Amino acid sequence: MADLPAVAERFLRYVRIDTQSDRDSDTTPSTAKQKDLGRLLVEELRELGIGDAAIDEHGYVYANLAPSEQAEGTPAIALVAHVDTSPDEPGGPVEPVVHRDYDGSVITLPGDPSVTLDPERSPELRDHVGHDLITSDGTTLLGSDDKAGVAVIMQVAEDLLSDPSHPRPPVRICFTVDEEIGRGVDKLDLKRLAADVAYTLDGTTVGNIDSATFNAAEARIKVEGVNVHPGTAKDVMANAVTILAEILTALPAGEAPETTEGGEGYFCPYQMAGNISGAEARILLRDFTAEGLARRKRLVEQLVEAAATKHPRATVSVSIEDNYKNMRDYIEESDPRAISFAFAAGREMGIELTEQTIRGGTDGSRLSELGLPTPNIFTGGHDYHSRFEWNTVQNLETSLAYVKQLIRYWAEHGRD
Ligand SMILES: [Zn+2]
Repeated sequence: MADLPAVAERFLRYVRIDTQSDRDSDTTPSTAKQKDLGRLLVEELRELGIGDAAIDEHGYVYANLAPSEQAEGTPAIALVAHVDTSPDEPGGPVEPVVHRDYDGSVITLPGDPSVTLDPERSPELRDHVGHDLITSDGTTLLGSDDKAGVAVIMQVAEDLLSDPSHPRPPVRICFTVDEEIGRGVDKLDLKRLAADVAYTLDGTTVGNIDSATFNAAEARIKVEGVNVHPGTAKDVMANAVTILAEILTALPAGEAPETTEGGEGYFCPYQMAGNISGAEARILLRDFTAEGLARRKRLVEQLVEAAATKHPRATVSVSIEDNYKNMRDYIEESDPRAISFAFAAGREMGIELTEQTIRGGTDGSRLSELGLPTPNIFTGGHDYHSRFEWNTVQNLETSLAYVKQLIRYWAEHGRD
């Protein structure tokens, strides 16, 4: 479609390439076809004039844009997206469909009448009346997660290279593999990336930035009981199974993964084993604030102490280990501008960013923990990992404009 903006044309081209990852594979990338897109991206980056664009044996693509003259000495900013799509729905071949000038009604997708885009189920659709929606034909996912990120980054590269007057710091482009199966940064070469700050372009709603995750710890409760024949157990036996169960059921029921959402933390017992003479359980503790996590640790310790007092014949103990901190804390430690500049760039173009809390680990949280602050930025896509996944031409353009603004902001303020 010749009258679509370049970023949308790119997006439609990239989604047609099947790059579905596979959990059951041990290779990297988990599916060789992910390299099909990787190789195409390298070719296109070279055609744009980025001579060092290359794909490594694992399928990761790296490319460098030199800084503009006025921005030499500013931090190097990496833009990261993943080429793979989710293995949870049919992945390809994807036949994208553009629905011009969306009127807010229910859309039935042409390839499968049972697949509809319904504002009742996806209320965000109501914010996109007048947009040009992009979906699959209903037989596959769309793959906006994360071809939208790939298309936006590629278009940023083209636009920056064709406009030398647009100030830019050193920009590192990186496309990763196997994000959807939790291995997105396993083989990422941080030395080669050589970035000071990174942004993953893998978010959803326009204006959203993901930069906060849980603080995480794990408690391990051990009960040593006293086992004698049940027939002569009175005043002798200490049953580790029932004592452990007592402790676990005393955890607040309203603070479990199945009863919480948004910014609420939880306790999640996820493993228990044992018999009368000994039993053990493991509990995940999650909280967005450090104080909240400390309170959860204290509560577990208090429950264990209470059980120990109540059952003097048993030995009850707990050990608690920290797993990881809120990604925001890691970012604050290495370079808080990763977030503050993102907000400032949004304000400059009239977008008020909203910080989202993520109830799980992400590539960005792992990179942030490794010392590379990496918030996640919106691409405008919705209903990921489903056959009614969608994005819009206008959202892709907004994401593109925002990333260019962010790049400019770093060039103009990165030395401050
Ligand atoms: Zn993704």
